Amino acid sequence: MTNGLARHLMDEAHAIATELHQRKQQHEKQRAKLEDELVVVRTQLEATSAAPGRLKEFGPMLRSQEDLCPECWIRRGQKHSVKPVSNPDDNDLFRCPNCNAQFSVAA
Ligand SMILES: [Zn+2]
Repeated sequence: MTNGLARHLMDEAHAIATELHQRKQQHEKQRAKLEDELVVVRTQLEATSAAPGRLKEFGPMLRSQEDLCPECWIRRGQKHSVKPVSNPDDNDLFRCPNCNAQFSVAA
């Protein structure tokens, strides 16, 4: 092998290694981003998976406790009671102090 060819091949090897190193950094960033997204999807999946069970519990809970907010319970498994708020029209208006969901009940 000539010295010229060996030097050229070594230069190519360095160029390839540099290219792959840069790709590795991109792939690591992409992996970190996907792992973050996976955490979000897992959290959402846990919430959606829990919804049917929470729905079953909601009726009995409503009968034994204060008026619970369905947004807080079904979505997050949190127990917060809705509170009446003053309302200029004839409907009864209730608001959850935790998530601010409003519930209007025809009078
Ligand atoms: Zn709420």
